Amino acid sequence: MASATSFPRQQPLLQLLQQADGELSAQELHQRLRATRHSTGLATVYRVLKQLQQAGLVRCRKLPSGEAVYAPVDRDEHHLTCVQCGLIQALPLCRISSGSLGLGAVLLQGFRPLFHTFEIHGLCRRCQQHEIAGNE
Ligand SMILES: [Zn+2]
Ligand SMILES: [Zn+2]
Repeated sequence: MASATSFPRQQPLLQLLQQADGELSAQELHQRLRATRHSTGLATVYRVLKQLQQAGLVRCRKLPSGEAVYAPVDRDEHHLTCVQCGLIQALPLCRISSGSLGLGAVLLQGFRPLFHTFEIHGLCRRCQQHEIAGNE
């Protein structure tokens, strides 16, 4: 079984994700790796990303475009995505992992969570205003 200890903190992909401002796709990671001495094939990038996820070090979420983006698990970020203009805003806090509001042992039924994703899709403020203006 993969454990956090099987990955040194200096794992190049993990380091790149930790240094990045935001989430990165496998393609972006592949490109950034090419600028370092750890250049590797895209297939290897996907394989290592999967191992990092299984070790509970990296989480992944799918963008509306279907593309998967990755970030370190300790960065617990969630987003509001506007389906009309594509605006993405960060949620100020996570209700899932914030203490007693989080998932209790009863809900998890013995399942050991490694990471979670939580996204809200809808209409941003501006697009709602456009909608109202358009109806007049
Ligand atoms: Zn919008
Ligand atoms: Zn969260």
